[in-house]
Amino acid sequence: MPKLGIVKVKLDREVNCYVVSCATTKEAVVIDPGLPADKIVEQAAGLNIKYILATHCHPGHVAGKDDVKSVTGGETGIHSADAKQFLRSADRYLIDGDELEFGEFKLTVIHTPGHTPGSLCFSVANHAFVGDTILAGGIGRQMPETDLRRQMMSIGTKLLRLPPSTALYPGHGPATSLEREMAQNPIFRGAPAPR
Ligand SMILES: [Zn+2]
Ligand SMILES: [Zn+2]
Repeated sequence: MPKLGIVKVKLDREVNCYVVSCATTKEAVVIDPGLPADKIVEQAAGLNIKYILATHCHPGHVAGKDDVKSVTGGETGIHSADAKQFLRSADRYLIDGDELEFGEFKLTVIHTPGHTPGSLCFSVANHAFVGDTILAGGIGRQMPETDLRRQMMSIGTKLLRLPPSTALYPGHGPATSLEREMAQNPIFRGAPAPR
């Protein structure tokens, strides 16, 4: 069984960045390159960064991507809907179902619009990096571009398709699991109610 390394880097605005690596090959992916970039670069030492991906383009989750890339290399990736919404660009525009390989692992892109139109979740083995789409005990802070109804639909149709034992790594706060959230998260009890 190949071994996966997951390091959480706490950034400004209480954003969680994750450095996800294949222990065998040292190839790795950075998820949510906010600021300060040097904190991320520090964690990337000794790794070969293949991709630098943002779950969405709120500045706290993406503002450091070019600074990280200039040191570590790797391809940056976001969804085109968020590129449009937030006037950001990247090396690569990700779509639902894309598979990105790093070392002995494969990261699958899941488009989960709602929090922002281009919000993405990334699943790797039995782990999912979910940005602000779902947090332990809640969801990410609603912003003017948030479409709550769409977000609930994304959770219901995309995330609930993952095995219940999937570990979740949100963009803010502690890690959790899908089954734990299904049991405890108020969004599964109809609040806040999607209209
Ligand atoms: Zn956000
Ligand atoms: Zn956030």
